[in-house]
Amino acid sequence: MKAFMKIRTNTKDVSDLNNLSIFEECGYELAKRKSEGSLRTLSSYASRDSRTISSEDGVLVNFSSNDYLGLSAHPKIAEAWRNGLKLWGSGSGASALVTGRLKAHAELEEELCDWLGYEKAILFNSGFAANQAVIKTFCKSGRSIVMDRLAHASLQEAAHLSGAKLLRFHHNDADSCHRCLEKAEGPLMTVTEGVFSMDGDEAPVEKIISAAQKNNSAFFLDDAHGIGVHGKSGCGTCDKQGIQPNAPHILMGTFGKALGTMGAFVASSACNIEYMVNFAREYVYSTHMPPAAACATLEAVRLARSSEGDDLRQNLRDNVACFRNGLASIGLEPSGSTTSIQPVIIGDSEGAVTISSELRKMGFLAGAIRPPTVPAGTARLRITVTAAHSKDDIDGIVNALSHLTAKKRD
Ligand SMILES: *Cc1c(COP(=O)(O)O)cnc(C)c1O
Repeated sequence: MKAFMKIRTNTKDVSDLNNLSIFEECGYELAKRKSEGSLRTLSSYASRDSRTISSEDGVLVNFSSNDYLGLSAHPKIAEAWRNGLKLWGSGSGASALVTGRLKAHAELEEELCDWLGYEKAILFNSGFAANQAVIKTFCKSGRSIVMDRLAHASLQEAAHLSGAKLLRFHHNDADSCHRCLEKAEGPLMTVTEGVFSMDGDEAPVEKIISAAQKNNSAFFLDDAHGIGVHGKSGCGTCDKQGIQPNAPHILMGTFGKALGTMGAFVASSACNIEYMVNFAREYVYSTHMPPAAACATLEAVRLARSSEGDDLRQNLRDNVACFRNGLASIGLEPSGSTTSIQPVIIGDSEGAVTISSELRKMGFLAGAIRPPTVPAGTARLRITVTAAHSKDDIDGIVNALSHLTAKKRD
């Protein structure tokens, strides 16, 4: 304990790091993070709706959620959840293969297949678990994974754990992907995302699929940020880019973002899904999604497919355009992204953090993202514009940014 105290006050003194317990080592790592100014902490907010969130600083307009269509507080979805609770109770009671898969889950799976054009789908309690399941079930020693280098942590983590060889291609670069595929050995899986969560940019899906096809590789698309929000009837990034929604061999989508509930699905051929039901440990050994959550998500999917969904997506596009025009009008360059995710590059970490906390005082929540999450010198505000924002909200944050960045330049 004495050695530990010493380390806490002098993080550079590594000689004292021998013979520490697990928890002492953890304490050291935390102290190091703190001294670097990168310690992360939790908040608990008193209330929220699709547009706002209450913090110690009062009610803030929330520009930090993934609730792109504002469905997380939609009365029809909440009602479907309540009705599901009355009908099914609060939990599924078992894993899917035992007795946890109920009619509510089957109906949601069928709706997803009808929407996206796949033979079969299965449900997970989170997108993180779904990604682990796909990659660790289909990839193992002797096979290779070719993945975009900026793919989500859940995909990278699964690839490392799978035992397969991992080759990472340059971000959104189909030629680099092709070169990795040519170099890779054994049966291959190519993996990327529809929309990337930090920059809001899209993968060139058709080109990546063509590289995969030329190399006889399976293709897995994670469309966590595209499902519900992109394409005709919200069926995702593939449709937005003019290709069939079921063009990927395997598609993963999450329910916690645009659809406003929780959990995720994996859709594929009947044979691939049968394989997962038999061999995906994250599916076999985990309590199935609460049936009421499946009822709520079914309502959310139906809503996303309806003309109300079209109206929400139109609102969102208008709001994104309004935000980007606003940035340009105050002399800030809008990013290349035309999705909800609108990074505003500030440059230095300190500047980004200062602007984020000043925005808070002015009534807006927009988080600062710093290196190493993003490349050095590109610290930014990660602003997500949603369908629930009003024109006043958007004008408000643009004016605040105008004021704060002018102050920074002085
Ligand atoms: C959010 C996200 C996930 C994880 O989904 P959860 O349901 O939140 O666990 C997976 N992939 C991508 C690209 C994501 O953005």
